[in-house]
Amino acid sequence: MRYQIDTIPIWDALNLDSACLFCALRDKTENLLVERYLGASVMEPDTRIRVNDKGFCANHQQMLFAMENKLGHSLLMQSHLDVLSEKLIKAFDSASKAPKKSLFSKQAAKVDNTFESLIDTCIICDDLSENMKRFAYSFLHLYKTDNAFNERFLSSKGVCLVDLSLLVDMARDSYSNNLYIKFLDDMREMMLKKIDTHKEDIDWFTRKFDYRNHAAPWKNSRDALERTINLLRGHCIGAATGKEEKTSNAKNK
Ligand SMILES: [Zn+2]
Ligand SMILES: [Zn+2]
Repeated sequence: MRYQIDTIPIWDALNLDSACLFCALRDKTENLLVERYLGASVMEPDTRIRVNDKGFCANHQQMLFAMENKLGHSLLMQSHLDVLSEKLIKAFDSASKAPKKSLFSKQAAKVDNTFESLIDTCIICDDLSENMKRFAYSFLHLYKTDNAFNERFLSSKGVCLVDLSLLVDMARDSYSNNLYIKFLDDMREMMLKKIDTHKEDIDWFTRKFDYRNHAAPWKNSRDALERTINLLRGHCIGAATGKEEKTSNAKNK
């Protein structure tokens, strides 16, 4: 699939020098989406229909709730409940018509999914995922065409494992074989170096719990656990990406 190329957000995120360029983009985009869904745009009929149909996951409900716009949030939930009650009736209808679950019944498995579909959709997750694909597409365009960008990126802190997976998937689909192999080589070197640094930092962090190292300097290990978690599963601990690295570096000096 082709996406529109927009290189400015990619350069902006790279300039933040955060632990993962794409986590920085994701954090920013996610916050904008949460604001958007509580803002005026949600009154547009198309958007409203999508919200009513999909609802929000627990994580995004929490983010919406934290915006402290209880009236706006309640109005979204009010019309979502209307749509949901219709779906719930259909789910019960089809469940009561179906035979009881047996180990070998495919139909029973389908009935289970009817209820599951009421709780596994989120419009913000969907929009975020589309945005991230668009960013990945623009990133891969820069990697392919702009040497200055390449140099900067390959000497940056790179990406987390979640976004490595996103980029490799898309590179496999959109690059020529040679370019794909070159991209894999560059990413391999970058990621292995990054893992080594984290291993070293978290190793020193654990040694600091030994009373014999009490007076030794922290080196770059104070936030090694947070950084390692964020590297493994995308930014989920600590302040918004970008701010996090700067404060932790300052602390470690
Ligand atoms: Zn990331
Ligand atoms: Zn969500």
